[in-house]
Amino acid sequence: MTGLGQNLKQRLSEIEGQHLYRRRKVLDGPQGVVVSMQGKRLLNFCSNDYLGLANHPEVVRALQKGAAEFGAGSGAAHLVCGHSKAHHALEEELADFLGCDRVLLFSTGYMANLGVISALLGRGDCVFEDRLNHASLLDGGLLSGARFRRFPHVDMQALDSMLRTANGKNKLIVSDGVFSMDGELAPLPKMAEVADKSGAWLMVDDAHGIGVIGDRGRGAFDHYKMNVGQADVLVGTLGKGFGTFGAFVAGSEELVEFLIQKARSYIYTTAIPSSVVGATRVSLQLVIKEPWRRQKLVGLISHFRAGAERLGLKMVRSFTPIQPILIGDSRAALEMSEELQKQGVLVSAIRPPTVPEGSARLRVTFSAAHEIEHVDCLLDALDYTLVSQSDG
Ligand SMILES: *Cc1c(COP(=O)(O)O)cnc(C)c1O
Repeated sequence: MTGLGQNLKQRLSEIEGQHLYRRRKVLDGPQGVVVSMQGKRLLNFCSNDYLGLANHPEVVRALQKGAAEFGAGSGAAHLVCGHSKAHHALEEELADFLGCDRVLLFSTGYMANLGVISALLGRGDCVFEDRLNHASLLDGGLLSGARFRRFPHVDMQALDSMLRTANGKNKLIVSDGVFSMDGELAPLPKMAEVADKSGAWLMVDDAHGIGVIGDRGRGAFDHYKMNVGQADVLVGTLGKGFGTFGAFVAGSEELVEFLIQKARSYIYTTAIPSSVVGATRVSLQLVIKEPWRRQKLVGLISHFRAGAERLGLKMVRSFTPIQPILIGDSRAALEMSEELQKQGVLVSAIRPPTVPEGSARLRVTFSAAHEIEHVDCLLDALDYTLVSQSDG
């Protein structure tokens, strides 16, 4: 074995020893509430396809039609010749949907966050991030070279006092809208007030909220009856609620024009294929025209929470489709996930460093395509797993 091979073998065995080794699930077919893995049917409670659009016939048809019209690949970056009228139309439709001036598509949410924060900030500036922010937001903050401050989770008083003592040229507050591993919302009204008072800019990544939360599906801001424009920067992704792929940044005319000039992860990457963009345009129409998807989720979630309470599961106070069951120990979480899979139920164990040390969990997620009977199957499997765990 080479030096590198030996080095990695050692490090891999350390990861395994900590019960933090990650293995990929190999699916045989499309995403859905029932998926097939190695020929076995499993009830799926771990996808981010909250609205059940990833394999929606109209969305799939739009993708096929888009491929016939635009081909398979976009061929270049947006600033070269990869930007089509499909990209342009989706940007306008998203801006219209959100009620903001402009939208800029990015190839992924990870890249959007890296690109935005590092374009807006540099040395001499200061970034303030919630301790439980998504990895891409933390990475963007670190990459920017700005002074990096983390505030305790959703603690607006702590944020306020940090801001008061900070002496950066520009200050940016960054937060998830819906926290990806907890499912709770950021206290956006208070956060906007704190930002306003201190002259800091506010950036919210609502990857799990857009399309899914709020009467009109405009996400966490919609839930609080706030205007999306109360954030200086809003980031959304298209691979979750919208069921397709890609991401966007929403904000002012100046923000979008500046990002086109300066966001390196926008400039130096290939544009999303127009066929995928065509599929997303149809998803957006379904998000707008079919509020029943959001309403159905509310019913599924409350049915699950009532059942989980009867089982005595340790839950997070979340009303979103993200419903974690707190376990604590990584090994226990992993074993529960494996046992659930034997019961025909797919729930992923989330372990550090994705979540803080000692807070491993089963991350249960719901889709509008689930039925009450599916939720009951999950509850039965959880009940059985808990009993077999306490016996073992
Ligand atoms: C999933 C996620 C991202 C990354 O989006 P991709 O399009 O999958 O790269 C960014 N932010 C948050 C909060 C997320 O949950």
